[in-house]
Amino acid sequence: MTRTAFSAVTALCVTLGCALVIDSATASIDSTYRLLRFDGQHVKWGEAELGAGAKVKYAFVDAPRQFAGARNCGVLVPIERLAIRHGISQATLQAEAAAAFRVWEQAANITFVPIDEPDRADILIGAQGHPAGRAYANVEYQSAGNDGVSVIDRAQICLNPYHGWKVGFDGNVDVYDIRYTLVHEIGHAIGLDHAGPSGQVMSFRYTEQFSDLQPGDLRGVQKLYGVSTQSMTADSAAD
Ligand SMILES: [Zn+2]
Repeated sequence: MTRTAFSAVTALCVTLGCALVIDSATASIDSTYRLLRFDGQHVKWGEAELGAGAKVKYAFVDAPRQFAGARNCGVLVPIERLAIRHGISQATLQAEAAAAFRVWEQAANITFVPIDEPDRADILIGAQGHPAGRAYANVEYQSAGNDGVSVIDRAQICLNPYHGWKVGFDGNVDVYDIRYTLVHEIGHAIGLDHAGPSGQVMSFRYTEQFSDLQPGDLRGVQKLYGVSTQSMTADSAAD
């Protein structure tokens, strides 16, 4: 099956002045979210059916990896490069990533499983081998779609190790919170596009006004995967 690599999406793009991928045909009536649309198809994990749930494995890269054809995240290197520069432990980075995945897991019928083998992972996370911008996601999907939906086969999330990073909000929007940034990038990696400049986690401006998903984020992810089957009680208890 032919794969198409798409250089999707650029997180927090406004910082870079990079162009948004906007196709007027994709604009939903609900302007608080926007689904990615490539070659006329929405993209999602699992089945090629809007509202169908999915299970996705993720891993951190353990050695440099190249992704041919990817404009974003073309080279991923181990996240240690970022951790060491910013005095953030690897364990903390992994915990922040787990928390970021959990945010989406609690919102929709999608589950994320951390694994130690990058070769088997669906979503790979690393530092940028060729640093640029702040953070990006790249989505690869199957070219043969079904009823307007294509299945994502692989995605990469990469952070620029040379920019400032922190854990938690402190009001300084020049230094990005890792968890918030990962929530945004994971949103792209599961099929969401930017939802305008502000007001949602999937908006392209970095903000510290909220840390949870906003109503448009929820509607977008639930359109793709359906509502979460997890017990909210259990989730609250776990937190
Ligand atoms: Zn983005």
